[in-house]
Amino acid sequence: MPESGGMAMRGEAALEAVTPERVQALLDHSWDILSLLDHEGRLIYNSPAAQHLHGFTPEEMADRNTFEFFHPEDVPKVTEVFQACLHQPGQPVRVEYRYACRDGSWIWMEAVAVNLLENPSVRAIVVNSRDISERRKAQAALQASEQFADRIIDTLPDILAVLDGQGRILKVNQAWRDFARAKGGSDVFRGGANYLEAFEQVGGLEPCQLPAMTEGLEAVLRGERHLFTFECSTLFEEGVRWFRVHLTRIQGAEPACLVASHIDITSLKAAEEQRLQLERLLHRSQKMESLGSLAGGVAHEMNNVLASILGMASMHQEIQPPGTAVHHAFSIITKASIRGGGVVRRLLDFSRQSLAEVASVDLNLLIQEEMQLLERTTLAQVSFASELDPELRPILGDATALVHVLMNLSLNAIDAMPMGGCLTLRTRNASPDWVELDVEDTGTGMSQEVMERAMDPFFTTKPVGKGTGLGLSIVYSTIKAHQGTVELQSERGHGTLVRLRLPAFPAIPPRAVSSQAPIQETGHRGLDILLVDDDELILATQAPVIECLGHRVSLARSGEQALKQLESGYRPQVVILDLNMPGLGGQGTLPRLRELQPDVPVLLATGCVDEASEALTRAFAKVKLLAKPFSMTALRQHLDGVAPQ
Ligand code: ADP
Ligand code: MG
Repeated sequence: MPESGGMAMRGEAALEAVTPERVQALLDHSWDILSLLDHEGRLIYNSPAAQHLHGFTPEEMADRNTFEFFHPEDVPKVTEVFQACLHQPGQPVRVEYRYACRDGSWIWMEAVAVNLLENPSVRAIVVNSRDISERRKAQAALQASEQFADRIIDTLPDILAVLDGQGRILKVNQAWRDFARAKGGSDVFRGGANYLEAFEQVGGLEPCQLPAMTEGLEAVLRGERHLFTFECSTLFEEGVRWFRVHLTRIQGAEPACLVASHIDITSLKAAEEQRLQLERLLHRSQKMESLGSLAGGVAHEMNNVLASILGMASMHQEIQPPGTAVHHAFSIITKASIRGGGVVRRLLDFSRQSLAEVASVDLNLLIQEEMQLLERTTLAQVSFASELDPELRPILGDATALVHVLMNLSLNAIDAMPMGGCLTLRTRNASPDWVELDVEDTGTGMSQEVMERAMDPFFTTKPVGKGTGLGLSIVYSTIKAHQGTVELQSERGHGTLVRLRLPAFPAIPPRAVSSQAPIQETGHRGLDILLVDDDELILATQAPVIECLGHRVSLARSGEQALKQLESGYRPQVVILDLNMPGLGGQGTLPRLRELQPDVPVLLATGCVDEASEALTRAFAKVKLLAKPFSMTALRQHLDGVAPQ
């Protein structure tokens, strides 16, 4: 505040301007209160504005100490400023306080005071005080709205930071503070810290993600783009969490500032990963299914071809005198087609989605047998261990198929340990409903790419002649047919774990006898046989074989044709009925055939001995399975077994 009342004017002009009347007019019409106080705060003079603002008349204020009118809460603060004023003559001091009104209310005031007690012609403290209630109200409203905004961003679950135009942190929300605390560093998130540096420092960002993030942030800061989005992962005690980060400029903010929001997308990521995995599984099972039906179709065709070759060859082998070159040739053809039958059976194993023989199976028992076999046949550098749960629950399954599974897995493990190692077979009850079987080796392991394709049919990394690539496919389809799952865990150089999970089953007595009755050699001759098959090749080759065995044969190319023959009065003594034919097929023909001829023995010819075909042999009396392809000897034995006494 200037020393004297002169503002822009100087000297004579000023003296002339400030007449006592004019000074009085200034005092009378000022909206601010102009007062004079003594050294104790007693009121010497109050300008008329005091009465307008506080309501007290000059008489009521006369000789009162101004301290009587301050709000009790503000007295200490005002006292302190008053003391300072006393100690600094000529220096203005400033203070805000509430002042009493005549109606009992309080009014917010701001005062500026100057101590002129030592000035002999003034000898007072000069005070200019004014009403600031509007300003205080506006300030309070602003503060309330800021607090409200803070409460809103604190309520948001997303991690938020407001950054200035240089990328420094201006403000963070509660979620951010919690995040910083969980990462073990809160100081780096102080206001003023560089956002990216702070974020990287607590490990919220992989160093390799920093350049992309810096570039994005700068583009947003420069206003080249409005939004920058990226995803980053960070490690917490409970595991990795994924965040999607958005950097957005705040519209219209001057100077420029932006919001960084981090949305936790960990569960989203997990769901996505799960969906991908399901898709992969589905893809695999579809591929297996289509390959399975392809293999099944090929195997079925091949079976008929082999059946006719085997039939003809075995017949001629019997006819030819032993020791001749022709006899020798036919015996080779017979052997070759029997071997071909083995290959076909393996293909059928893979293609089969159902199980041949289902019974209660003790996996521990299978493993022990497998171990004995391996120990006898494998070189010494591989050692074997088993950890079998003595309480292991049985499963419902096909023991033969499961032995193949164990064999395939063990051979893979041994192949993976050319320099030696250990193969461990383990069983356990995983839950009341599941049992687990682990086959673990300490071998070479698999790369990610090999592991992804390992179960594909015909995928092999082994040299030609060694690997067929069907091992794990058969494991997969067999376990799937058991309603189980196969899981591969492997890493290059760290061995492999194959985990089979199979549904547990309450113990049931295993089926006592197979449906095939023992065959006796009785040497029946001269039977009337009806041969039903849709395949011309089979009819053309099996008919002479049957005749060669001394029987009479009648042919039918379909179930319908066979039934027509029976309806017209033909009474064969044995029917050889192909199961897999178009139209009625074996299964559709059987019931009508039984109606027409309840006692005739039926040999059901099939390349696929499974639960469905076995069920037929149980459903009808005198029905036996005849596995395709069959040699003349096998056919003779079967005919002898079923022929009427
Ligand atoms: P094959 O043994 O005839 O190659 P599989 O279907 O049994 O066919 O296995 C396919 C491929 O999976 C193998 O060639 C091999 O690369 C890989 N593999 C399977 N089991 C193991 C194992 N225990 N350790 C390492 N690699 C394995
Ligand atoms: Mg294999």
